[in-house]
Amino acid sequence: MKNRISVLGSTGSIGVNTLDVIARHRDQFSIFALTGATQVDLLFQQCVSFKPDFAVMVDSAAAKLLEEKLANENIPTRVLSGPEALVKVASDERVDTVMAAIVGAAGLPSCMAAAKSGKRLLLANKEALVVGAELFMEAVIAGNAKLLPIDSEHSAIFQSLPENQQSWKHVVNKIILTASGGPFRQKPWQDLKNVTPQEACAHPNWVMGKKISVDSATMMNKALEVIEAKFLFGMNPSQIEVIIHPQSIVHSMVEFIDGSIVAQLGTPDMRMPISYGLAWPNRISSGAGHIDFRQSSQMSFESMDSDEHQRRFPGLKLAWEALSASSGMTAVLNAANEVAVDLFLEQRIRFDQIHAVNLAALSLTAPKQPKNLEDLLNIDSETRVKAFEIAKKLL
Ligand code: NAD
Ligand code: MG
Repeated sequence: MKNRISVLGSTGSIGVNTLDVIARHRDQFSIFALTGATQVDLLFQQCVSFKPDFAVMVDSAAAKLLEEKLANENIPTRVLSGPEALVKVASDERVDTVMAAIVGAAGLPSCMAAAKSGKRLLLANKEALVVGAELFMEAVIAGNAKLLPIDSEHSAIFQSLPENQQSWKHVVNKIILTASGGPFRQKPWQDLKNVTPQEACAHPNWVMGKKISVDSATMMNKALEVIEAKFLFGMNPSQIEVIIHPQSIVHSMVEFIDGSIVAQLGTPDMRMPISYGLAWPNRISSGAGHIDFRQSSQMSFESMDSDEHQRRFPGLKLAWEALSASSGMTAVLNAANEVAVDLFLEQRIRFDQIHAVNLAALSLTAPKQPKNLEDLLNIDSETRVKAFEIAKKLL
């Protein structure tokens, strides 16, 4: 039997890479559903190639267009629209595996649905876990789902931890997340006021969606990853360290109590963690290039503690602040950051003001402890309104 997969966010960077890996192994995998927000032509081409049972366009006008194009080609894929359709294709009983590759908190309901219905859940959508936090992990346990990280750092940690994950807490000293430092690693922090969205999205090592590219430039991506690591691996936040590694070859490391460090290395290509998630506990070819150590002349590491980096990347420490505040604050931080990044991409606030919005959001009154998905979505939408008010004063 083939493994039947729903790829949520198939038109994005992770989605396209996922389909690239699946296309290499059509004997093992088949596509149940593909989804996208608005890009009709790309989703249409993906439907022609993979003949999924369902295609979801969040936008209803786009869904209508896609339906017409598929009918013209006699492709029997059924088209659905709206956010509730994402939940349906994430939890349908015919689905084995869900690739969660929607960007932002918009992916939370479908992730929770996949978790509750016991899927193999491949998590690229880190914001969903940052917002869902303990409730997300409880849904994974309640649904008996298998949660596998796709973020390259978390896949590296998952691969570096001992197989018996029950006992590793006693033997792990800390986890070390690597960060490339993004496009502004060497830019004088005073000049960050003037950078454009285009400069912020020009990542030196990875080609990614716009939101995560801006997050990499501010290091809020690493802040979200610290929070992600805490919930995925049950780590104490003080056991999570971040180090800059500009070459993005060491994807992250685990340090054990005897001083040994186990790391996972590879070229910077998301098809590696994606193929590992798809095939786990086995391995399949991914299409990613291989490292030739005779050619990789240098691997270097830089501390985040320098004065310059502290001023350049003030957002990183917000991860620990949000984690030490009451539960719900990681959702607040995420919502504020999503609003701030959108405003920066629209050139309505400056790059350095993204941090100003996030910082101000963290000093808002803590929300009531969330008890379910609805509470989480309320925190998300209420914080968006407040973050916009904060930003308006800066506009
Ligand atoms: P992207 O912007 O390229 O793609 C996002 C996808 O989500 C698209 O298919 C888009 O149509 C869909 N989408 C956008 N808004 C939506 C909404 N409101 N409802 C439903 N669907 C919506 O983003 P990406 O770079 O592929 O990143 C996806 C996720 O994976 C993010 O959470 C990101 O942090 C994470 N991630 C990405 C990379 C990478 O290399 N790109 C690496 C690690 C983790
Ligand atoms: Mg990452």
